[in-house]
Formats: sequence, structure tokens, C-alpha cells
Amino acid sequence: MSRLPIIAGNWKMNNTIKETKALLKELIPLVKDAKAEVAVCVPYTSIAAAGRLIKGTNIKLGAENVHWSDKGAFTGEISADMLKELKVEYVIVGHSERRQYFGETDETVNKRAKAALGRKLKPIICVGELLSERESGQTDNVVIRQTKGAFEGIDKADLADIVIAYEPVWAIGTGKTATADDADKTISVIRNTIGEIYGKAAASTIRIQYGGSMNAKNVAELMSKPNIDGGLIGGASLKAEDFKNVVLGAK
Ligand code: PEP
Repeated sequence: MSRLPIIAGNWKMNNTIKETKALLKELIPLVKDAKAEVAVCVPYTSIAAAGRLIKGTNIKLGAENVHWSDKGAFTGEISADMLKELKVEYVIVGHSERRQYFGETDETVNKRAKAALGRKLKPIICVGELLSERESGQTDNVVIRQTKGAFEGIDKADLADIVIAYEPVWAIGTGKTATADDADKTISVIRNTIGEIYGKAAASTIRIQYGGSMNAKNVAELMSKPNIDGGLIGGASLKAEDFKNVVLGAK
């Protein structure tokens, strides 16, 4: 089963509107011939400007979170409708920084993913173990639990619109990467979990990225593994040249 790789930048809390414009103007020509699908998930304040700039290019627009309610008293949150209005296509859900610092749980990840799908946004659902969990041999259990939790009640028909990002928390922003074999092995555990829920055929079609200090140097090796369908890129998405090298390295 061939799956189109997707390289998505996660800008996190970086880039003002001015910086967004400068970065994207530089990036657009650099990735125009990319073989992989390319997306940038930008802060809410940059979505409108980014959307205008990448319109008509091969770069897809993404956000970094979405709330599960349509509207209401949720100060600081953003609804799927609000993102849709700005022509957002992808939205990151359950990033480890949200889980660590903002109380995100498997249940809220599931609710956010469902809200995104309900408005035809494509969630990039993040799962991954902490260092302590890896060291105590819990990696598989953690990603199985997070995957089952995130997909609770989600229809098989929606799988084509979902990307999973396996991001070992200890590898995010640290310069430490899982070895390509380890990443591939854990991603196969995630894929098998999808298989248990939805069947083998569905498991073979869903795209699963690796994330965690992925860069121009390690992208080719990671992408050479059978289960890895691209990357969610933090640090290396903040400079056009760096991101281009990851995108072009993900053949
Ligand atoms: C991320 O934030 O999703 C990420 C993978 O960050 P970095 O590439 O900087 O490790």
C-alpha cells in the first residue's frame, strides 16, 4: 500500500504576522516541486496571513489546536468553524506540549479530533511516550492507550482524513531522535492498534508520521522505514532552508 508522505511544520508559539509572511515567501518557491504533501501548522494569529500567502501553492494550511465545542464560554479557545472559515485544512490535536502543560488528556484529544472531523478538518493526532515511560518499558502500552483513546467512537470512514504523529516526548526539541528502527517499531505498534480497531486494510492506509528532532540529516533514514509516512517538524520548520531540506529529503 503506498501512502503519500506528509511533512507538516509545527511552528508552536513562534512567528508574528510579519515573520510569517517573510518565512512563507521564502519557503513557497523552495518546496514547490515537493514529492511529499507539505503543510504548515501556524499560531492562530498567523492563520489568515498564511492562508492568503499559500493560496494556490502546494503548501497546506494547518492550525495547532481546536476546541470540541461549536461555541460558548471557553475563553482562549478556537472552534472548528472558526478554523474552517479561514480555510484551515489540518489541525494538530494532542501535541505533547498540550498534554504536558495544558492538561490535555486522551479524552479531550478524542473530543477535539471528533470536532475537527465534524467540520471536515483533518486532525494530526499526536501520541508518544515520556522518557520515564520509555525507560520503564512502557512505550508500547502508552501509545496503544493513547491511540485507542484518541480514536474512541471515530468512524472508519474518517480514517482517510486523519494523520497520526508518533512523537516520543523525550525527542521533541531536544536534538535526540529515536533511531529509525525504534521509531518504525513503535509506529508499527500504533498501526497494529488501528488494525485491531478498524481492520488490517484500514491500518495499511492510515498515514503515521514521526516527530521529534527530525531534520535534514535524519529525514532520509527515518523515511526509508516502511511504517514512517512523513514527519511533524518543530524546530526545523522555523527556517525556510531547513524546512525545505526536510521536505525534499522525504522522497
Ligand atoms: C514537535 O513539536 O512536534 C516537534 C517534533 O518538535 P521538534 O522537531 O523541534 O523536535
